[in-house]
Amino acid sequence: MNLYRPHEECGIFGVHNHPEASNLTYLGLYALQHRGQESCGIVSSDGQTLHAHKSMGLVADVFGNQEVFKRLPGYSAIGHVRYSTAGASVSKNIQPIMVDYSRGSIAVAHNGNITNARILKDELEAWGSIFQTTMDTEIIVHFLATSKAGALEDRIVESLKRIQGAYSLLFLTESRMIAVRDPNGFRPLCLGRLGSSYVVASETCALDLIEAEFIREIEPGEMVVIDKQGMKSYFPFKKIVPTPCLFEFIYFARPDSFIFGKNVYMVRKDLGRQLAREHAIDADVVIPVPDSGVPAAMGYAEESGISFEMGLIRNHYVGRTFIEPQQSIRHFGVKIKLNPVRELLKGKRVVVIDDSIVRGTTSRKIVKMVRNAGAKEVHMRISSPPTSFPCYYGIDTPTRKELISSSHTIEEIRRYITADSLGYLSQEGLLTSVGGDNTEYCRACFSGGYPVKFPNMGMEPKPQLGLFQEEP
Ligand code: AMP
Repeated sequence: MNLYRPHEECGIFGVHNHPEASNLTYLGLYALQHRGQESCGIVSSDGQTLHAHKSMGLVADVFGNQEVFKRLPGYSAIGHVRYSTAGASVSKNIQPIMVDYSRGSIAVAHNGNITNARILKDELEAWGSIFQTTMDTEIIVHFLATSKAGALEDRIVESLKRIQGAYSLLFLTESRMIAVRDPNGFRPLCLGRLGSSYVVASETCALDLIEAEFIREIEPGEMVVIDKQGMKSYFPFKKIVPTPCLFEFIYFARPDSFIFGKNVYMVRKDLGRQLAREHAIDADVVIPVPDSGVPAAMGYAEESGISFEMGLIRNHYVGRTFIEPQQSIRHFGVKIKLNPVRELLKGKRVVVIDDSIVRGTTSRKIVKMVRNAGAKEVHMRISSPPTSFPCYYGIDTPTRKELISSSHTIEEIRRYITADSLGYLSQEGLLTSVGGDNTEYCRACFSGGYPVKFPNMGMEPKPQLGLFQEEP
């Protein structure tokens, strides 16, 4: 469950050569809404000119009016959903970024995080570049504009070779759509077909909605160029062992999506099974923290033979801000989203499954809620290892000192969340469940082993753009 808002977490979608390009992009973004809820945008191309519509808000609100699509004509479009930091200046940070430069127009949509952004930005500014936004993505645009290379593909490759970190990218020009996934393959990106049109999306759930056929995932280090002639694939970067993000499997991607060669739901269920093997307990009922804990709880219940129940019901219509009653209600933030089914919990020994503990505040409130509903015992089980290190590759996590497991033992966390017992999935268990032959997987958030170095490594790394904020 998400009690605070992720920052810098994004989803991208694009379609080339379709009469309803912007409408389909809107639907694609709709399916990717879980990857970013604060702002969204679409840029379309009519073959001569790029057109943009971007705004703060959910996809349905920003693009809910048919009139908008009249302003997004053409056969190609790319779109982006994002969670951005709060404050007055955020609207300038909405993606896709669109610029006109000496060779025409280009728009870019980015999911990920550039780890050497600060150094590159300082360098560009020293050479006279003026930045319009505070987004790391804009660096790519500046490199593109100043590149001396001839073909667009070469300019993109030249620019990206200067960039380190995580990027799944979509570029749109008047005539072409180009998709690139960084050599580590941190974030997912897939390729689909709809009749004679090509579609690119962060996750396959977006292809399903528009009934596009899933062709394959775009590979780590691959650049796919789509134009009137069709699709061409290039591998312009030095080949390395890919390190896709395990947290996509654990929490971030939608369970119906197929990413990194696997279905997310199946992986989560396996994590639950492994968790049951590692942390068995005598109990009467297994309940998930909805929605993120559901598949793992089903796996845990299956493996342990303890019955599965939806002991917490989630209100799916909760907006971003609540007007609290003057007389404060205890645990209001969690109560507005979740309510226990007392009849299921009363007098029971309950196993509660969630996908992760970040700061510990959610688990603490949930344990109390389940106990107040009459549970005799509350055992917390987490389908990932302790998250002790911040992510610098596009999943928003708080700074190290806010991550409860960076400074507390499991016993201390158990006491803080007031559970009768607490068990985390082991790193070995996680890797065994996820499997995969020639893949390393990024597990920096659990191990502190960062596959791509960043400039201030060794010190407490400076968070990039935006921090976690707890909802009111
Ligand atoms: P906490 O209260 O800080 O321990 O938060 C734990 C909850 O946050 C769990 O229910 C997770 O499902 C959820 N969560 C984990 N990672 C993220 C993230 N990057 N963005 C938003 N929510 C998250």
